[in-house]
Amino acid sequence: MNYYTNNFLETKKLGEEIVKKIKPSKRGATVFCLKGDLGAGKTTFLQGFGIGLKIKEKIQSPTFIIMNRHVLKNNNFKNFFHFDCYRLEKPKEIINLGFKEIIANPDNLVAIEWSSKIEKILPNQRTEIVFETIEQEKRKITVKIIK
Ligand code: ADP
Ligand code: MG
Repeated sequence: MNYYTNNFLETKKLGEEIVKKIKPSKRGATVFCLKGDLGAGKTTFLQGFGIGLKIKEKIQSPTFIIMNRHVLKNNNFKNFFHFDCYRLEKPKEIINLGFKEIIANPDNLVAIEWSSKIEKILPNQRTEIVFETIEQEKRKITVKIIK
């Protein structure tokens, strides 16, 4: 599925709409992999997740700390884990943060920015979202379900 957005608010809104439609998988965590260059809109999209999930704090990229956990209330999921692999050198670093246990648990909703850095340890069942900059404020956003 392809979407085009004309400004950051539309990208945020798309994130909000998508997160509200997600139904948890029974097999493991529900995992979103976000790909695209710096500034393409991955974090902006996840700020929409934050709104849809009623998270009070503003979603920010955990660029230096790699992982953020937000505990959810009144939701099908118990936790929203936000990873940013931009600075990751080896998949081992994220495994040390408990990545395998996190993606095995159906209570978790997981979003991974720069997921290409950990391609080998991603779950088979996941949704990939690719962000492309078309013009200064125009983005193409492609959603692909992988099974
Ligand atoms: P990433 O996480 O992919 O590095 P960010 O979401 O942090 O990107 O940054 C995207 C930047 O581009 C923000 O400064 C945002 O305001 C700007 N922007 C302009 N147009 C758009 C758009 N259509 N969608 C998302 N961001 C946009
Ligand atoms: Mg980001």
